[in-house]
Amino acid sequence: MTIRFLLLSMIALSAHPGLSQERFDALALLKDVETLSSDDYEGRDAGTAGGAKAREYLKTRFASLSLMACGESIEQSFPLDDDREGVNLIGRIEGSDSPGKAIVISAHYDHVGIRGGEIFNGADDNASGAAALVAIASYFTRHPARHTLIIAAFDAEEKGLRGARAFLDDPCLPISSISLNINLDMISRSETHELYAVGIRQYPYLEEFVQGIDSDRDFTLLLGHDEPGTGSDDWTMASDHGPFHTQGIPFIYFGVEDHAGYHQPGDDYEYITQDFYVSVVDGVIELIIRMDADLDAIEEHRTR
Ligand SMILES: [Zn+2]
Repeated sequence: MTIRFLLLSMIALSAHPGLSQERFDALALLKDVETLSSDDYEGRDAGTAGGAKAREYLKTRFASLSLMACGESIEQSFPLDDDREGVNLIGRIEGSDSPGKAIVISAHYDHVGIRGGEIFNGADDNASGAAALVAIASYFTRHPARHTLIIAAFDAEEKGLRGARAFLDDPCLPISSISLNINLDMISRSETHELYAVGIRQYPYLEEFVQGIDSDRDFTLLLGHDEPGTGSDDWTMASDHGPFHTQGIPFIYFGVEDHAGYHQPGDDYEYITQDFYVSVVDGVIELIIRMDADLDAIEEHRTR
């Protein structure tokens, strides 16, 4: 970091005390979202040049943290339609105490690309989640959890959760070692500062872990969007946590209510709710710390 950048960072943080975080670099987080959702990335459609550019950016960010690959390579390729290829990025932070059990932290980095000549930048959906993975990895590479953390940047979510399905079809670790999935998809845009935690209806024993992660933070946590029979209001299969749930792996999915920019060209960086977003990422790190500390109890509920 240059002195000049350091000074600029200090000025920016003092102007926005809500953006100050001890666990990760909030300005770097915002910069990652801004970059991934810029027009240069052409909406990050899976199998396109824009998608590949986003992947290279994330690979560079992960490499800067010395994040290990989960398998032989950090890349996991899988076929899409039309001879194209989707590519997941799967990293691993080895557990310090019980590395044989793992929590998968996931977010998709693809979006819907260019339609009708307009670039759909997908700042909230889901540059926000992908950038959060970098911040989360930056914390846990420096402060390893007791259990192994898998950092999964999935491709082709927008084409039917294809990256998550490919990961579970050909996993880099035994499926039986995956205790939990925490999925992040659209976590940065809410004028009311409201974030949903989805999955408590299916896994009620996880409620105690999410309760209170919004205390002293700049968001309000709501439980819901997981009631069967409520059609599109039920988000149980709405993002990459769905295939984990299908395999019986407990999940918590975090996301905001659909907004005016949802799957529109107006899902741009300028509309994200910066202080809310930074606070949410800190809350998710808090949840991971809590769940890692008590993963044995979660496992016991599963086997009952
Ligand atoms: Zn999404």
